[in-house]
Amino acid sequence: MTTETEAHWRQQSACADHNPMQFISDSPADKARARLICRGCPVLEKCRDWAMVNPVVGVWAGMDEAEREAYRPRWFKAVEAEGLAALSRMTQV
Ligand code: SF4
Repeated sequence: MTTETEAHWRQQSACADHNPMQFISDSPADKARARLICRGCPVLEKCRDWAMVNPVVGVWAGMDEAEREAYRPRWFKAVEAEGLAALSRMTQV
């Protein structure tokens, strides 16, 4: 289910006008192209927060599943340190 908040930030995403298949492809070339698109995305931080707490597949915020899994402990520490500001950022429309 897509929430209103998610729908809002995803409209601003750099991937909105690109083929979504390259974001879920196993091809290294497709993944590289997806990562390149993410690098210039204006909502990368919001996407990363979303991908850290939702069961998504493929490249999100420039990371595939394995990279997100490896990054998750650092992300949780950062969110914990940031406290309420992090919650506010993640629920911002
Ligand atoms: S960071 Fe990448 S996957 Fe996330 S919204 Fe932006 S372009 Fe799409």
